[in-house]
Amino acid sequence: MSSVVGILGYQGCIEPHEALLSKLNVPHMRVLSPEDLTRVDRLILPGGESTTMLKFIKIHGMMSPLREFSKTHPMWGICAGAILLANEVMNPDQDSLKAIDIAAHRNFYGAQTESFTTALEVDFLRDPIDVHFIRAPLLAQTSAKSGAKHLKVHSTFRGEPVFFSQGNIWACSFHAELGQDTTLHEAFLKLAV
Ligand code: GLN
Repeated sequence: MSSVVGILGYQGCIEPHEALLSKLNVPHMRVLSPEDLTRVDRLILPGGESTTMLKFIKIHGMMSPLREFSKTHPMWGICAGAILLANEVMNPDQDSLKAIDIAAHRNFYGAQTESFTTALEVDFLRDPIDVHFIRAPLLAQTSAKSGAKHLKVHSTFRGEPVFFSQGNIWACSFHAELGQDTTLHEAFLKLAV
């Protein structure tokens, strides 16, 4: 079994993840094709522009490889990445991988110029972490697919859930890779394949 972290590499906030994973001495690679996906044991879907990423996912025949991967491997969707993983996408409607029982309402937390940073508590971390909301989606629970694993909320902000997990799938509306803090990456690396 390989021990390489993949980062979906079409567009968006890729380099900051690479920098943090290099800092942790963890092998990583950009994933662009179904073949690349066979070489990694977990995958980060970065923040960026979900519509653009979705186009590349389809051009490269990645919809069903990513869906299959999500059934057996840890995946972490950040902002646009969480939108890609969601069951339902609104504002406007958009196709998605349907890997976690959440709905994503795009651009809920305002425009690019209204981006903000906040210290956020995560239920399984000792200290709050600094996170960034950049045209972030509102995430909400949807009805569970039959046999689906329990959906958990790990953080809330202004009363809304902003970090969900379901099995080994993580979806957060915020960015957690823009500073030097590797805490959440370390936790993601601990998820069992
Ligand atoms: N608003 C973007 C989208 O809908 C997500 C923004 C981000 O990832 N920071 O895809």
